[in-house]
Amino acid sequence: MVITGRVYVPSAVEEDGTVVGMGCFSTQETALNVLRSFLKKSHQVSMQRASVAAWDVDVVGDDAVTVLSEHECRTCPVCHRTTFWLDVERFKAKCYGSACGAWIEESAVESGVIDCGWPPTRFAEQVETIDDAMRSLRRIAARAEAAGLSAIDERFSIEDV
Ligand SMILES: [Zn+2]
Repeated sequence: MVITGRVYVPSAVEEDGTVVGMGCFSTQETALNVLRSFLKKSHQVSMQRASVAAWDVDVVGDDAVTVLSEHECRTCPVCHRTTFWLDVERFKAKCYGSACGAWIEESAVESGVIDCGWPPTRFAEQVETIDDAMRSLRRIAARAEAAGLSAIDERFSIEDV
């Protein structure tokens, strides 16, 4: 069998099961960039999941496709938009929403340690579980809101337009 070519296909699934095609690309990098800019706008439509797959051209059947990355959509604990995407393979989540960027990630150094953070406030913390990480992000967001940082929301909406 001679593989004549490979294309990279980002796609997403809306909450009602509708598949959103984004095109097919000759490099993985382009496919990832296209997916990333899509994830930034995922609060505009309710999404379930998104992925990037590599398809080998002229190959019949399941062997033709390799899923490179898969993400699930969640509500961001900080900005409350549905732009919080988690990597299904290994635990890693990030808000792609503009001006937010809240993230949770398993520590690459220590096992059983979860890192989380919210870059605009330089907040970062190490906790033990993913639930703790969600709680600590919610707490810092509540504190920011209590301190009158609702200006952040305005900035969000301006950038979103
Ligand atoms: Zn967010």
